[in-house]
Amino acid sequence: MNDNTKQQKVVTRFAPSPTGFLHIGGIRTALYAWAYAKKNNGTFILRIEDTDKAREVEGSIDHIIKSLKWIGIDWNEGPDIGGPNAPYKQSERLESYQKYAKILIEKGFAYADPYTEAEVESFRNKAIEEKRPFLYREHRPENPPVWDGTQSLRFKVTNIKSYEWEDLVRGHLKAGAEALDDFILIKSDGYPTYNFAHIIDDLEMGVTHVMRGDEFISSTPKFLSLYEALGIKTPFFATLPPIMGTDGKKKLGKRDGAKDFLEYEKDGYLPSAMMNFLAFIGWNPGIEKEILTPEEFVNLFEINQIQISGGGYNEDKLDWINKEHIKLLPEDELEKYIFEWLPKELQIKKIIPIIVERISKFGDIKGMVESGELNFFYKEPEYKKEQLVYKSTPIETIIANLKSALEVFTMTEEEDFNKENIKRFLMELADNLENRGQILHPVRFALSGLEKSPDPFILADILGKTETINRLNKAISTLSS
Ligand code: GLU
Repeated sequence: MNDNTKQQKVVTRFAPSPTGFLHIGGIRTALYAWAYAKKNNGTFILRIEDTDKAREVEGSIDHIIKSLKWIGIDWNEGPDIGGPNAPYKQSERLESYQKYAKILIEKGFAYADPYTEAEVESFRNKAIEEKRPFLYREHRPENPPVWDGTQSLRFKVTNIKSYEWEDLVRGHLKAGAEALDDFILIKSDGYPTYNFAHIIDDLEMGVTHVMRGDEFISSTPKFLSLYEALGIKTPFFATLPPIMGTDGKKKLGKRDGAKDFLEYEKDGYLPSAMMNFLAFIGWNPGIEKEILTPEEFVNLFEINQIQISGGGYNEDKLDWINKEHIKLLPEDELEKYIFEWLPKELQIKKIIPIIVERISKFGDIKGMVESGELNFFYKEPEYKKEQLVYKSTPIETIIANLKSALEVFTMTEEEDFNKENIKRFLMELADNLENRGQILHPVRFALSGLEKSPDPFILADILGKTETINRLNKAISTLSS
């Protein structure tokens, strides 16, 4: 599809409702809308849709802002920074909705709903009994009262027809007249519905591209009939694919991983990796490269590369991407991240490569610290004699091998005592043995006391010449006792 939707300045928005924490689905919507605006030097707006007071959860707005900031999404206009179309919270925009409500009343497109909730409910139940869809418009009152704000205000859909429209992702869509109804514009509590408010806000804020989830497709004919009644142009619609659960079958739910987005920060993922991961769930730029920096992603992003069907959530993939992003970090930043997870005594530059090799996210360091597997860096290891022995090698051979390692190390100048040299010396000795393990194992064990640890030359390098020699001596005397 040729993208000829950018004739005017691109304006996109993310419009979350503050009804709890954001999870990756919401963030991915924000990400695409943000990337599209950024790519086209457009405007990205954060708007809070807080008109459902009953569902509002305290602290959600802060949480939304924190989540977006963490992943690196910024906005040109929003509740925290203001902008030319302020305010950016729907609850503070009631005057706008009143203004357009009056226009619709005057044009004969809105009326006060005279029924009680129980009456509407009984209409609905009757329709269910008769196995036909409930349509409020079939009960439209002939002489509705004058709207005084205590009743709901309903849209009066006059053009009952089927609608066809273009979606930038899904292509040509259509729906029959049964999708149209007299929906509520303003509730009896004075707040507008989403159906009404978002259209007014998008209009007033000059939004050109509406990017949102597929749950809004079925309501689109209703929106289109309202755009028509208001005599306004529709923005471009781009329906984003859902994020599927790990099984790829149903939408990702809280049960299978849709957690509070900030949990990823707590788990020690990198925001750039998170962005990379989310970008590819539902977007395919048709390239081989899988690791993208935020800049690369924005530069590549096009709406016509968004997929129709949902991509699956795969935490192993996230871990892999995260590990790759860790490798891209400049040394000083990497150190900062890693040291944050380490106790003082383990904040040693030389152990950074060992840690990097063994983690996929910084949170994994916690487990390494807790298990004590890193303690040998500052504490002499403890082990039993037998643990130093490689398979069925006689103890004397092990002692002799440790002694030859000791001899080589002792002869090595302090400044030459590095990973490469140690490796070379040890390998020369090892290659003369029946089996390399006969020297590599006891040296490794003498230095770490662990069944699983980095290679002996890495350990020796980190511990330094003096400590390495001490530990080999200790192993020799343990074996000789
Ligand atoms: N407030 C809506 C929601 O949170 C946003 C829908 C839209 O982007 O228009 O689902």
